[in-house]
Amino acid sequence: MTMQHKTAHELHSLLSAKKLSSLELTEAVLSRIDRTEPKVQAYVTLTKESAIKQAKAADERLKNNDNVTPLTGVPVAVKDNMCTQGVLTTCSSKILANYLPPYDATVVEKLRAAGAVIIGKTNLDEFAMGSSTENSGLHPTCNPWDTKKVPGGSSGGSAAAVAADECILALGSDTGGSIRQPAAFCGVVGLKPTYGRVSRFGLVAFASSLDQIGPLTKDVRDAALLLNYLAGHDPKDSTSVDYPVPDYQQALINDVKKMRIGYIKELLGKGVTRPVRSAVEKAMKKYQELGAELIELSLPSFEYAVATYYLIAPAEASSNLARYDGVKFGRRSNRSPDLLTMYYNTRAEGFGSEVKRRIMLGTYALSAGYYDAYYLKALKVRTLIKNDFDRAFSKCDVLLSPTAPTTAFGLGEKTADPLSMYLSDIATIPVNLAGLPAISVPCGLDKGLPIGLQLIGRAFAEETILRAAYAYEQNTDWHKQKPKL
Ligand code: GLN
Repeated sequence: MTMQHKTAHELHSLLSAKKLSSLELTEAVLSRIDRTEPKVQAYVTLTKESAIKQAKAADERLKNNDNVTPLTGVPVAVKDNMCTQGVLTTCSSKILANYLPPYDATVVEKLRAAGAVIIGKTNLDEFAMGSSTENSGLHPTCNPWDTKKVPGGSSGGSAAAVAADECILALGSDTGGSIRQPAAFCGVVGLKPTYGRVSRFGLVAFASSLDQIGPLTKDVRDAALLLNYLAGHDPKDSTSVDYPVPDYQQALINDVKKMRIGYIKELLGKGVTRPVRSAVEKAMKKYQELGAELIELSLPSFEYAVATYYLIAPAEASSNLARYDGVKFGRRSNRSPDLLTMYYNTRAEGFGSEVKRRIMLGTYALSAGYYDAYYLKALKVRTLIKNDFDRAFSKCDVLLSPTAPTTAFGLGEKTADPLSMYLSDIATIPVNLAGLPAISVPCGLDKGLPIGLQLIGRAFAEETILRAAYAYEQNTDWHKQKPKL
């Protein structure tokens, strides 16, 4: 096994035993990128020189045993909607193609403090709006398992980079499924923390009441390990919660005896393909064998989740994206005879069609006369969805479903049909609306394409879903399957 195939916890043992240097590891990852990136195109910016510098600094830390953490010297990729000081942060949008943030996002600051090596910025659907990374204003990313398929989205670059061993760990963001669905499509682990668990400071806002940053990794232990360094209160983000951060690695216990696992009836029916359903049913059997108690649960309001999300998320986006006016951030149209035309042209030239669609949807839903009928109603349904979850969690500890109803679809297959694209988040969106934590772990392959299993927990019960995911992983081999690139 080459070193870039390994997990962060395996590499940490080698690094701290001085059997490997961060410089060697970083160079191995960079040369892997040189070989596979022409096929995958996971990155929008590579920071080779600074990565080498950071690797050398990490080696100093390791040599002197100075403040060494499990992330010290480990190459990490960051989704390009998180600010990196002096390094392009484009959100894969033409409007921010030249944007150099003057500061680091809190999560990036935390990675640097832990001694991680930031290898580059990964591709996404423009402003994280999409499920395939095809809405990137820069270029599409391909699925490492089959380069004619999408990697999922919007954190498709991060998921593809982890799957292709073009990094060891990655950060993604999840507003309606953007960590978990690409994790499922690329056969890696993706965790969306509870809303408020991780600081959003420096994450370019899409829908602020839903956005959350989380890890994309090769196994569950790495997800726990990375979450340890992301989680926590941040005075710079008033929605981050001041709630103690446990050591998530302590939750990794291979035991689910008596754990009550509720499978969501609505998410195993219509729209879910047979191979996905059968893989998830096998996972349910596995849990039973391991001593968990399986309970069928119905969450009837789920039917309205996608519609609700496509009012709330665009409403928030239309407001958040008002700041891109050619004055304060990024690109300005040079066809600008006067101020108003400059605004028009900047936004017309800078935003792609999906972003424009969301801005229009959101502006419409918020406009006088429609506000009550659309936006306010959506907020009420959001409460119903949350209530359904509360009821379910009075009967179980973890909820289980497929992460996505299908495996990765073909590049170009759904671009002309936004609704069918939106439906690929049917299982992930309700979780964001309720602000809950959820993880996707690999649970099967169909025609060579990965299938993801989603485990959802109560608010701040990341430990419970990590434990359930870990026990599953310890008793199956799906996470060890690798794409042949
Ligand atoms: N696919 C969903 C959307 O297009 C979710 C995106 C996300 O989680 N950032 O909005």
